[in-house]
Amino acid sequence: MPKAISQETMYRLLIEAVRDYAIYMLDPDGIVLNWNIGAERAKGYSAREIVGRNYECFFSHDDRKAALPLRNLATALREGHYLQEGWRYRKDGSAFWASVTLTPVFDEGEHVGFAKITRDLTQQRTNAQELEHQASHDGLTGINNRVGFLDHLQNELPQVMFGAALAVHYVDLDRFKPVNDSFGHDVGDEVLRTVAKRLSLVAGNDGVIGRLGGDEFAILQLGSPDDEAIAWMAARIVTALNEPIKIEGKTAVIGASVGVAQAPKHGADEATILRNADLALYKAKEDGRNCVRFFDPSMNERALQRSVLETKLRIAVASNDFELHYQPVVDAQTNRIIGFEALLRWQDQTGKNVSPAVFIPLAEELNLMGQLGEWVLRTACRAAAAWQDDLVVSVNLSATQLCDEKLVNTVRLVLAETGLRPDRLELEITETAILGDLELASYTIGCLRDLGVGIALDDFGTGFSSLSLVKHLPLTRIKIDRSFVSGIDDTRESTAVIRSVVSLCEGYGLSTTAEGVETDEQRIALVLNGCSHLQGYLLGRPQPSSYWPSLTISASHRATSLKAVWELT
Ligand code: C2E
Ligand code: MG
Ligand code: MG
Repeated sequence: MPKAISQETMYRLLIEAVRDYAIYMLDPDGIVLNWNIGAERAKGYSAREIVGRNYECFFSHDDRKAALPLRNLATALREGHYLQEGWRYRKDGSAFWASVTLTPVFDEGEHVGFAKITRDLTQQRTNAQELEHQASHDGLTGINNRVGFLDHLQNELPQVMFGAALAVHYVDLDRFKPVNDSFGHDVGDEVLRTVAKRLSLVAGNDGVIGRLGGDEFAILQLGSPDDEAIAWMAARIVTALNEPIKIEGKTAVIGASVGVAQAPKHGADEATILRNADLALYKAKEDGRNCVRFFDPSMNERALQRSVLETKLRIAVASNDFELHYQPVVDAQTNRIIGFEALLRWQDQTGKNVSPAVFIPLAEELNLMGQLGEWVLRTACRAAAAWQDDLVVSVNLSATQLCDEKLVNTVRLVLAETGLRPDRLELEITETAILGDLELASYTIGCLRDLGVGIALDDFGTGFSSLSLVKHLPLTRIKIDRSFVSGIDDTRESTAVIRSVVSLCEGYGLSTTAEGVETDEQRIALVLNGCSHLQGYLLGRPQPSSYWPSLTISASHRATSLKAVWELT
């Protein structure tokens, strides 16, 4: 039989044994009456040192006033208890974050003292603070994430109500993806860290910086800046991010576009200000990137129109509500049609023609181009399979299609399905699409060439015009951009560019198509400069396939029918 103990002893032993809570009694004047193991652990005093002393000895001299006026408390707390969280100090002077409960104790109605329970919450507090930090900060760069940035913005808005002003600079890196793709993610991460550091220097003491997503950053400019100070900061952001970034012997040139919105001028709540800065950023990107645009209310109208167009486009893609027109490409020497370029046409639900230059970039952005592009490819190949069997069909590929790993297989399937000979298909790609992911693009182009399909580099001369692309990619044709053809009439440079592109292509055994030939003078100049093929309104506008009698007549008649087209223009 265990030794019988009184209930009183049992409670005493129980309380003395509790390790995680400091539990002790004070008399009505604050004299410590008992002291458990938890108290010894939390505060560092032994029971022998502390029992009989006033609890005020726990407070440093300066903190004495924090000691509670106990007598008043007993009356005030007759029915309840006092709960507080705050810093407490150990015997050795070190601090811990504690929750403290003070409960007045009454014995048969008479106040006999206080029960005090103190718990060390330092670890929990640190964990909670870490979680809070993680929730509001970006792990990679250590600066605010979107949540943290919006918190700062929200906290500043009351000042705006009292006459202060602020600006949000929304920053998007122009060429982060190609850097990340070609140099690898470690370098990409380092680029982002460098961007954060540079932005923090630009922001200085009057700014808060944040990473709002992938390669999107923002600066909140405080201190009631005027228009001039805002423009100055925006310009400095562009300059700072235009500086090449050197990492592990590699040099990344990224550049940035910036959209700016102000408060109170452009909005009073954080969502509106950020949305307006984003609209301005959209305009900066549309205007060629690497520049700053300031929000103006007309951007809202454009955003509205865009969202209407977006809805219409989604519906059209879902139901393949498009048409292809075909524009002839002719042999410059014989004037004979050698093939047609398929060009996408869209009449929206109200019957309005929308230019591909407008809806194709939008479809790209909405991730619809893969589906739409496949429809174009299938429709064009099916049409071409019914043409004379020496006619080629050229199909434009978008950047997303070119970077899609399934492309080669899709082309193979469509050729098999439509029965079109691979050498009768030519795919047109642009420099920008290739530079998006050069490695993947050149691999894909190689696979397409292995299928026997031709590859034309479209709009040559408008992008980076990197002649090394011509050397390193297995192309079959260069299409010289219309801007050089129209320049033939009045600038020597255009003629010089055409001549040098033609001679480069001849060296590599590539064909050249001059785009946008509108006059006979241009045609003659292009023939004299050695272009192998011509395309343009002079030779035929893009038309539905039913329009082209030459598709169904014999090849020898095609030259004649083209002359007729010239006479009409
Ligand atoms: P692109 O591939 O360079 O096509 C040539 C553009 O120039 C066509 O514009 C054509 O109508 C126009 N054009 C042809 N000859 C002349 C001329 O003599 N003078 C003038 N001023 N223009 C001429 P379109 O059809 O508006 O297409 C614009 C761009 O949209 C195309 O440029 C191409 O990049 C893109 N696009 C068109 N269809 C497709 C498609 O199915 N898929 C993809 N990814 N892009 C397409
Ligand atoms: Mg084209
Ligand atoms: Mg073109």
